[in-house]
Amino acid sequence: MFLRGAVVVGVLSASRLLPAPLAHTPQPAMDHKGAAGPEPHPAARAPGTAVPASAPDGYRLRPIAGETALSGPGAAPPRADVTFTLPTHTREIALTFDDGPDPRYTPEVLRVLRRHGAQATFFVVGECATEHPGLLHAIAGEGHVVANHTWTHPQLTKLRPAAVRSELGRTSSVIEETLGVAPALARAPYGDWDAAALGICNGLGMSPVGWSVDSQDWTRPGSRRIASTVMGEMQPGAIVLSHDGGGNRSQTVSALEWYLPRLLDQGYTPVRLRP
Ligand SMILES: [Zn+2]
Repeated sequence: MFLRGAVVVGVLSASRLLPAPLAHTPQPAMDHKGAAGPEPHPAARAPGTAVPASAPDGYRLRPIAGETALSGPGAAPPRADVTFTLPTHTREIALTFDDGPDPRYTPEVLRVLRRHGAQATFFVVGECATEHPGLLHAIAGEGHVVANHTWTHPQLTKLRPAAVRSELGRTSSVIEETLGVAPALARAPYGDWDAAALGICNGLGMSPVGWSVDSQDWTRPGSRRIASTVMGEMQPGAIVLSHDGGGNRSQTVSALEWYLPRLLDQGYTPVRLRP
């Protein structure tokens, strides 16, 4: 674990040397922020449901409050700007799955990825992660990246800084306590960042990530439609947004089964997102 951490830091340091690695692409439409608006998160607690007593109130204290394993002395600074595409001209792409982990769909997504030897990044919701630590282990154990998608999936731009810090910090905490490594990447729900949220994200040692291809899977348009959207918008360096939680994701799984082998046939290589 520590050795792997050292390698990651080495890669991080090397990546700093790359000049302006991110091709700027137009900011895509907000995550889910379509006509229908966000659907209620299934893991949202019912009124009166107590938050587990063991849940930390904020990011747990380290020698300096608010540090994560990736934000302490010697850590490479995270990226200040949101990453929308991979810095590559090869056919490397990143598949990302948000709003899990979910005991119904996350294992299905993992199964399809495993069958094709593909790597992905999972932006997990903290309150789901804390209920399903085994799924975090399953994701990480298969070589995928576990990243931060806040604790309760709020719109960060509508929260006070202290609440943003709690949303991101608690989620980093549960990931670090479960896997032994703090997440280095975060994605705001609906892709909705502002300067304050970006600053807090950076302060917790995380680089912010967006996407360039929205599979629109959350609208449940049918698996063929999801697959054709992904295939139609694919290009080198694409970051693809899909969901393994937050609702019925059977179409997402079926679509992935269809388009993943075809992307591989076209020479695309799904890779882990790097900070
Ligand atoms: Zn989301």
